[in-house]
Amino acid sequence: MPYRAPVSEFQFIFDHVVGFDQVAQTDRFAEATHETVDAVLTEAGKMCEEVLAPLQRVGDLNPAYLENGVVRTPPGFDDGFRAIADGGWIAIAADPEHGGMGLPMAMTTAVNEMMSGACLSIQLAPLMTQGQIEALEHHASDDLKALYLPKLISGEWVGTMNLTEPHAGSDVGSLSTKAEPNGDGTYAITGQKIYISWGDNDFTENTCHLVLARLPDAGPGTKGISLFLVPKRLPNADGSVGVANTLKVVSLEHKMGLHASPTAVMQYDGATGWLVGEEHDGMRAMFTMMNNARLGVGVQGIGVADAAYQHALAYAEGRKQGRTENNTITDHADVRRMLATMKADTFAARAIALANAVAIDMETATDHPDWAARAALLTPITKAFGTDTGIAGASTGVQVHGGMGFVEETGAALFLRDVRVTAIYEGTNGIQSMHLVGRKLMDGGEAAYRLLDEMEAHAEAARASHPDLADPVWQACETLRETTEWMVAQGAQDRFAGSVPYLHGFARVLGGHFHLKAALADRAGPHERLAAVYINRLLPEHMGLLAHARQGADDLFAVTLDDLAA
Ligand SMILES: Cc1cc2nc3c(=O)[nH]c(=O)nc-3n(C[C@H](O)[C@H](O)[C@H](O)COP(=O)(O)OP(=O)(O)OC[C@H]3O[C@@H](n4cnc5c(N)ncnc54)[C@H](O)[C@@H]3O)c2cc1C
Repeated sequence: MPYRAPVSEFQFIFDHVVGFDQVAQTDRFAEATHETVDAVLTEAGKMCEEVLAPLQRVGDLNPAYLENGVVRTPPGFDDGFRAIADGGWIAIAADPEHGGMGLPMAMTTAVNEMMSGACLSIQLAPLMTQGQIEALEHHASDDLKALYLPKLISGEWVGTMNLTEPHAGSDVGSLSTKAEPNGDGTYAITGQKIYISWGDNDFTENTCHLVLARLPDAGPGTKGISLFLVPKRLPNADGSVGVANTLKVVSLEHKMGLHASPTAVMQYDGATGWLVGEEHDGMRAMFTMMNNARLGVGVQGIGVADAAYQHALAYAEGRKQGRTENNTITDHADVRRMLATMKADTFAARAIALANAVAIDMETATDHPDWAARAALLTPITKAFGTDTGIAGASTGVQVHGGMGFVEETGAALFLRDVRVTAIYEGTNGIQSMHLVGRKLMDGGEAAYRLLDEMEAHAEAARASHPDLADPVWQACETLRETTEWMVAQGAQDRFAGSVPYLHGFARVLGGHFHLKAALADRAGPHERLAAVYINRLLPEHMGLLAHARQGADDLFAVTLDDLAA
């Protein structure tokens, strides 16, 4: 389906909203000049428009399937993946020592969003591989890095991530896959993993699985888990692929959407694996991959939100219904509301994700703990708000189409079916929200207060030129500060009861801050007009969300299970 890469919008947000200039001024990312950013995003955008976007519909209509134990992917997906790999788009941020570009995560984030908007199901393959590259860079031995990283970075091999088991979903600590030392430095991995995205394919010569498993002397829970690299085919020392490992795809899931992405049940029967990181410390290594993937999955939602918006706008501009000036539905106030909401929310979610990526880049470049804390705070917000924005946007896109939105031939429903899972995988949005009010506020709320100080100072300064927009943003920051203080003072159950509305309230206020910045940089321009829509109409939702967040858990548990069943 047609897709227009939002390259100039990324440039605007980099330049005026998220402070990308700080990143470009560091020694580590000195190569990320304005010209480099422009060249990279333009080239990647072209590939998304011309190569990936046409695959989206093909993939939906021709799901991946299993044939005699071999995963078959939809027509054109081999060429699509090769275009991603040959363009270097898997490894924009990876270490140049092994063939990566060494560019900022902010640029990866922008490219990932465009690939997701163009074709979500194929983008999941490079996303999993990016996460594996980062986990190996940080935690693998030098020998493993030398053997695997060049192959993953070039896209000759792909990576997957294996956490989930039938009885171990959100509760990863209850997993039971076993790892036994073979006595030669390798391990024998035995067990079953489910829902493994891109568990295999028919276009790369190897698929490398990062698998969480337990050693014989492992304690219970997450502390007893170790991480192993388990390739489909065992590599020879020269990097060529050798014999098949003892693992297989047992079946592929039939899903609501994302049909082209093979979601596999994997069986490991004493498969040979190599330890990544220390024994019993696998969750730390896996978290490197998961944090990368959480930002990436949030961005998947934003990419789909934008694509669904573009699709809805194009339809509305051609649909004549009712007596209006242009005779199209774009003249109806409610249709304007839907389109403007989609655009304003996509801007807010995109700015949050890019600010998150900038914080990661600044952490990488400066090693300063405040940047690490900022990145950690923003990651669950990016994941949950980005994906919920994708789902809400795709649903609104169906509504803009009217009956034609429910009919598959327009493609509006495809966005909604594909994006729905993004709120579920990579840690459900409920779990993300619990992380936000749990782990991320364990510092007594310091990282949140530092961010609020900046947001309030900005709103204060903006009062001179934009009082109508700046005042509500400042007020919203105060309400968020009070709610954060309330959260920090509560026990776990009361925090968790309000975690989802708290995360959404936080995102709403952050969105107001970023829209205000855009308005100041684009006076009397489209960003200022969009900011007014967001701040007048969507920002006020933070009051209800944050009031909800402060309710505690008592009334929820006062409703008994019998009441629920009545
Ligand atoms: C298409 C697809 C692709 C996937 N890809 C991968 C992959 O590549 N690798 C991989 O390892 N996994 C993958 N997954 C698995 C995915 O990460 C899990 O489905 C997800 O983590 C949720 O686990 P679950 O399905 O067991 O749900 P459950 O854990 O059973 O959760 C059910 C509900 O209960 C809630 N819940 C559970 N525990 C708590 C708690 N402690 N507090 C509050 N609420 C709670 C959840 O938020 C959810 O709403 C994929 C799943 C799908 C559908």
